[in-house]
Amino acid sequence: MSKRVTKPSIRTTAVALAAAGLGASLVAGAGSAFAAEHAAAVTSPVNVTASAAVANQADVQAKVAAQVKAAAVKAQAKTVSAQKSAAWVKPVSSYALSASYNQGGAMWAHKHSGQDFAVPVGTVVKAAADGTVVKAGPNGGGDGPAYGNAIVIKHANGTYSQYAHLSKIQVNAGQKVSAGQQIALSGNTGNSSGPHLHFEIRTTPNYGSAVNPVAFLRTHGVTI
Ligand SMILES: [Zn+2]
Repeated sequence: MSKRVTKPSIRTTAVALAAAGLGASLVAGAGSAFAAEHAAAVTSPVNVTASAAVANQADVQAKVAAQVKAAAVKAQAKTVSAQKSAAWVKPVSSYALSASYNQGGAMWAHKHSGQDFAVPVGTVVKAAADGTVVKAGPNGGGDGPAYGNAIVIKHANGTYSQYAHLSKIQVNAGQKVSAGQQIALSGNTGNSSGPHLHFEIRTTPNYGSAVNPVAFLRTHGVTI
């Protein structure tokens, strides 16, 4: 709808057709701006009639365009509210982002599998979405000693979240949790360079299936 015909040669052709009373629909197809610009320049009685028809059609077209636009805005608002109700939240409220996903370094045998949130030991850690705890314990909840005390939660649509290096685990495997519910206190256990929460989004309960957690949260309406 936003494309306008601007070539002078095409405009001239359109004016000629409109003056002959033949081109109303063609002119309207070229956009309403044309009709508004040129209506005043027309002088002969025949042309007045033609230009009135053009103006009328342009007006109708503008109204349709407005309706289409309103519908698009409405649809967009619906999408935004749907994202809100997906109910993913940050695992900690206040933090500094430290090591990021896929970062290389001496701390990790492979690339870094999660996002680190630097927080003081004892910071409240929250479930990132509704789900069921599937792992909770020392030794990374079974994923290995590097993670220290860790939790894995199973969510809808084959998504899992993992929380590691915790000082205190406050849920048990099998327990249902809701988004934002306190599940642990952060810590510095396992292979950790300092107090922080290591957070992963996985496609299975196990190590090795992580995806970029920050990108994931952002696509689910969470500002990180
Ligand atoms: Zn980490």
